[in-house]
Amino acid sequence: MTGNNQPSNESPKLLAGDETEPGSEQSAEGICLACGGSGEQSGKECSDCGGSGIVTVIVGDA
Ligand SMILES: [Zn+2]
Repeated sequence: MTGNNQPSNESPKLLAGDETEPGSEQSAEGICLACGGSGEQSGKECSDCGGSGIVTVIVGDA
């Protein structure tokens, strides 16, 4: 164990509701469909958006 393998905090964390990585092309923030943007499901933090109510979705050409 040399300590060279530290966990990186820079890699984007994908949420369950994310369709793609934040910041990638043709991505945008969208309302989480699982909780309707409230960030909660049945009084608990929505697992799809992590409680933010926002997920990253792919916005392709219409
Ligand atoms: Zn949600």
